[in-house]
Formats: sequence, structure tokens, C-alpha cells
Amino acid sequence: MSEFDEARQDPEDAKPDLARRRFFGTAAAAAAVATMVPGLSILPASARSPDEPVTEDQRWGMLVDVNKCADGCTACVDACHEENGVTHHGRPTTDPYWIRKVKLRDRMTGREYGMPLLCQHCEKPPCVDVCPTGASFRRADGIVLVDKHICIGCRYCMMACPYKARSFIHEVTTDQKPHAPRGKGTVESCTFCVHRVDAGGDQQPACAEACQAEGHEALVFGDLRDPESRLYRLLTEISSRQLREDLALNTGVRYHGI
Ligand code: SF4
Ligand code: SF4
Repeated sequence: MSEFDEARQDPEDAKPDLARRRFFGTAAAAAAVATMVPGLSILPASARSPDEPVTEDQRWGMLVDVNKCADGCTACVDACHEENGVTHHGRPTTDPYWIRKVKLRDRMTGREYGMPLLCQHCEKPPCVDVCPTGASFRRADGIVLVDKHICIGCRYCMMACPYKARSFIHEVTTDQKPHAPRGKGTVESCTFCVHRVDAGGDQQPACAEACQAEGHEALVFGDLRDPESRLYRLLTEISSRQLREDLALNTGVRYHGI
């Protein structure tokens, strides 16, 4: 992977927007500093209702099948940004992306393909390790988030993330969604549409839902610990890899076809 965008640094942009929104109160309260066994433990899990606490009984994850990812399709990116109120300002090097399509080329075969890239929701997230304020945190169910209330915009997490999955917000934010507060001077990344996950039921993140609606089904979301989940079954039936397996981060996002 060689085509990651590099964010420009502008000291003026580093001033935090203090008008941050309530949101992560619930998520932060539910967060636990959980040490999980490396590898994907195979444990039975039951669906969680909205009033139940987040626990290690579940680990949310996603399988990305790049063979099914259609050339030129950006439905996942568009749906994510619509769902979470992520707007762009015509500045490609600094505009935020929670998910993006990266074009890859196999040097041996010349084969080219597009690969959706998002926060990998690492079991051992480097972004959490380096965060000086605790703003970057991992929930017991594996979802990695940023508490915008205490993010100081230092961007250490952006430097630590091997996947360049995080974005710094340079502009004043408008049209925010109540479930996805954003603020100038803070860092953000994919939340697996945590508001949908916490609503319970069988809701998928917006990207996976849009991909399915387009008839591609390249993104399958689910509970890595639930043998009844489609995600679990697929992972036992087809080969999959983690990006940068050498880092041993035990990512929640797995890829087929790379
Ligand atoms: S930018 Fe925010 S979330 Fe990232 S390391 Fe700094 S304080 Fe933590
Ligand atoms: S992919 Fe990057 S931002 Fe996401 S958990 Fe891993 S280190 Fe953190």
C-alpha cells in the first residue's frame, strides 16, 4: 500500500473547537480497558439490547472482499460520509475520510483493484497507546473511538496508526449529526457506525448497508465471536488476511482477495 494521503499541518488548524457535542459520554462510560486474548476467540455470543453494557462477549469486525468491490463504485464512502455528516472542502490532502478506496496493483500480475480502507479496530491499537489524554480508547467490544471532549488535537494517534485511518479536522464543522459529533481541531476515524451498533438489532454500518444495496456485498459486518453470524461463517469458509499482519495488532477488519 503506497497511496495513503498525507495530512498537511497548519498551526492555525490545531486550535480545538470547544463546541463539541455530547455523544461519547455513553460510549466512554461503557468503555473498558480490556486485555483480550490474541487471536479471534471462538465464544458464543448473544445479541445485546441497547440498555445492556458493552462487554467482551462480542467483538465487532468486518470482512472486506476486494474481489467483490466494484471498480469505480464509491457507495461505501458516500454512505459513510452522509451517515456521519463528514463534509469536504475541496482540499484533497486534508479533507477527512472515515473510509476511502485505495487503488492497489499487484506487481507480479499487474492486476489492479480497489480496496476500501477504514480504521481496522485493532485489538492492540497503537493510537490508544500514544494518546496523552485518554481520548483515544477501545471499547470492550473492540470498537476504537475518539472522545472529542478530551482530544487536544496533538495528532500523535495519526502518526501511530499504521493504516493512516485517522483524519484531523481543519475546518469549522457544519451539518453535524447528533450521533456523530465533530469539531475543528480534533481527530476522528471510522466508528463502525457505533450509534447503529448500540441501537441493537441487526443494523449494519452505513458502508456495508450501501454496498449490499448496490448488489456487491463486498463488506460484511458482524460479531467475530458469534458462530451464528454470517461474518463468522465466512471467515471459517474463505481465506482472509489482516493488513500489516507483521505488526500483530489483531485487527477487527479482515481482507479476502489481497
Ligand atoms: S489527537 Fe486527540 S485522540 Fe489523537 S493522540 Fe492527540 S489527544 Fe489523543
Ligand atoms: S487502525 Fe489505526 S486508528 Fe484504527 S485502531 Fe488501529 S491504530 Fe487505531
